[in-house]
Amino acid sequence: MPSPAVNKAMDILQKLRKIREEDEAIDVKLSKIVQMTAEEMSADSAGCYITVEGNSLALCAQYHLNPELINKVVFRFGEGLTGEVAQNNRTQCFLNVDNNPKLEKKSSIYLSEVKTFIGIPLIRWRRSIGVLTLQHKENHEYTPLEIEILETVAMLLSEIVSSEEMAEIRDKFEKTSHLSDREKLKGVSLSKGYGLGLAVVHRRRQVVTKIFAEDKDKELNRLAIAFSQMNADLEEKLNATKLGIGEHVDILDAYKMFASDKGWYKKLENNIQSGLTAEAAVERAYEDMWNRLSGTTDAYLKERLHDLRDVSDRLSSYLSGDFGTTKSIKDQDIVVVAQTMGPADLMDYDYTHIKGLIIEDGTPTMHVAIVAKALSIPVVAKIKGIFAEVKTGELIGVDGTDGYVYMHPSAMVQQKFKSKIAEKEQLQAKLAELKPLAAETKDGEHINLYLNIGLSFDLDYIESTNCDGIGLYRTEIPFMASDIMPNVDRQIAYYQELMDKAGDKKVIFRSLDVGSDKLLPYWGNVGEENPAIGWRSIRITLDRRAILRKQMRAFLRAAVGKELNIMFPMITNVSEFKEAKETLLMEVEKEKKRSAQVPKKINVGLMIEVPSIVFQLDEILPLADFISIGTNDLAQFIFACDRGNPRLTERYDVLSAPFLSVMKLIIDKANQYGVYCSVCGEMASNPIEAMALIGLGFRNLSMSGSSFGRVKSMVRSMNAQAMSDYINTLIKSSAKTFRPQLISYANDHGIEIY
Ligand code: PEP
Ligand code: MG
Repeated sequence: MPSPAVNKAMDILQKLRKIREEDEAIDVKLSKIVQMTAEEMSADSAGCYITVEGNSLALCAQYHLNPELINKVVFRFGEGLTGEVAQNNRTQCFLNVDNNPKLEKKSSIYLSEVKTFIGIPLIRWRRSIGVLTLQHKENHEYTPLEIEILETVAMLLSEIVSSEEMAEIRDKFEKTSHLSDREKLKGVSLSKGYGLGLAVVHRRRQVVTKIFAEDKDKELNRLAIAFSQMNADLEEKLNATKLGIGEHVDILDAYKMFASDKGWYKKLENNIQSGLTAEAAVERAYEDMWNRLSGTTDAYLKERLHDLRDVSDRLSSYLSGDFGTTKSIKDQDIVVVAQTMGPADLMDYDYTHIKGLIIEDGTPTMHVAIVAKALSIPVVAKIKGIFAEVKTGELIGVDGTDGYVYMHPSAMVQQKFKSKIAEKEQLQAKLAELKPLAAETKDGEHINLYLNIGLSFDLDYIESTNCDGIGLYRTEIPFMASDIMPNVDRQIAYYQELMDKAGDKKVIFRSLDVGSDKLLPYWGNVGEENPAIGWRSIRITLDRRAILRKQMRAFLRAAVGKELNIMFPMITNVSEFKEAKETLLMEVEKEKKRSAQVPKKINVGLMIEVPSIVFQLDEILPLADFISIGTNDLAQFIFACDRGNPRLTERYDVLSAPFLSVMKLIIDKANQYGVYCSVCGEMASNPIEAMALIGLGFRNLSMSGSSFGRVKSMVRSMNAQAMSDYINTLIKSSAKTFRPQLISYANDHGIEIY
């Protein structure tokens, strides 16, 4: 016999369903839902807001609120209690708010006193697309069941608010939006070039379009089939891969257990029993957990939340039947528009058709930007609100050179784009002609130019560039692109493919560098406060030694009879390097013990990315065969400036005294100890920065394949000695940036900086 509370919940769901099915205008339905909800909860007032322009909230339905504010923007995200709910993206309830300075009195939204305020975000794509609020004149403690009911109401509201029917109402607000009036939007360039194509909005998961079940048994049956199919496939996938033993197996087992968890399944069944479709039941279960755990700082719980998101997405894709299909507008040129994106996400599309990428929260050193650059895809970031604005199928032009996006470009603008694209192709052809020529400065200094490789299509550059070798192989990229942790055999296959393509050329493998913005899909996100300076890179692989050992084993076996170069990232002190090196040497011993063949020579190096190691060069250089400077990380730590924070993108310049002085110190020490030293961060990919590095004394530069021709052309047109004299004078200045001076210098001296 259901309790009165459960009966009440069922009753509300019934009423919701009835309103939803009525043949009424959408704004009438919204008002009815808001009123019904307020009355059921004995609230004195209630409102439904929708998100416009990406970060503002406009009132679209009200009950005993100021009716004059209907269809007007009332709050910004983060403003007042309502804006706080939208910003934090989770349900928040406040008692005794009459004394709370955040209560939004100034907007004259409330007509009477408010003591209790509850706000529930309307969520889609993990973002607030609106907020439902209820207010009481007295203190009212919401029970978990009441909150659950309100969240179900919010789910229905979010469905209505994002429906096509709502478009007209939304238009009223959008008229005040600057964004929709603008055709040309300024952002920040992350990868140069021009591209034109149809927008594809990159979303991570399915949208729940049907919330209420028409036939509970049918939904229960759909759930049962999808659940068992998903688990059977997971089992098969994991069994088909020889995983060996180690922590990764524990992680995968935990994931499997999570996916088959009986408690979760029961919760989904209950949600269906309360009237939801299977898809909505999955979302509902996730939102419950999100509301409970999103505020926690406990890493373990955060990890569970991440796991649940992942298995929920997986289950939803089985429910919709499109598991494993890739999204694209078939055979058309596309521009991918994302809020944010992981590097492996690009693989969801046919990359030959990606003509541009717009990442609202992008930063230059984020890995997807680096991958896009490697693919010569122009990228523009930091256009506020663009993700919410663009619709799949709209024509967009991306000017990655100057950092502009053109929405619905006119015929004239399209023509301009086409001629720019043709110009770029001509430049590419010109640069390709440099292939057989030496990378030598005008005064005869040979500069070794290497490639940075991550994805398999980067391998094509080995042939097309005639490079000196691979200066950085980011081994984490294939790990990130894989659904499960690659076992030793799979790793050997990746590494051997690279070595085969490289032939006699030098290849530097970097050990797994995950964490921070490089998350593995099959690992929970540990949800750290400061991931860039958290448990990442060598810190993870030293703590999870089995992963490191297996990778070393795979390197050794892939390079039998050849020269093997391994470097360890994010080394912070000498002991870390010693420990990592010992792990490698132990694996060498093991291979020898089982009478296996080993590489003919093994060189062990480290990346200079953390300032503390710069102060231990005298200790570490005698232990290392080579070093390579990761300027992306080194710059973020030298300037204490998050490389992933879009607000800080152009704040500090590596072309300034503090950073160039550190670079000079490193190269001088490496030369003193006779240790090979290269630069493999993004600095080496940019002609003007590479020119400065050569002036400082660097002779080994490793860069993305798409930058290779431009850097080589710069090298061939510069004079190393003259540059050295100039940069050593410049470095004494305290200017914020030397970029303008270096560009003028290049122009005055005929140095080609395309
Ligand atoms: C760097 O930090 O400069 C580097 C090359 O490593 P990653 O960009 O992969 O962190
Ligand atoms: Mg790095």
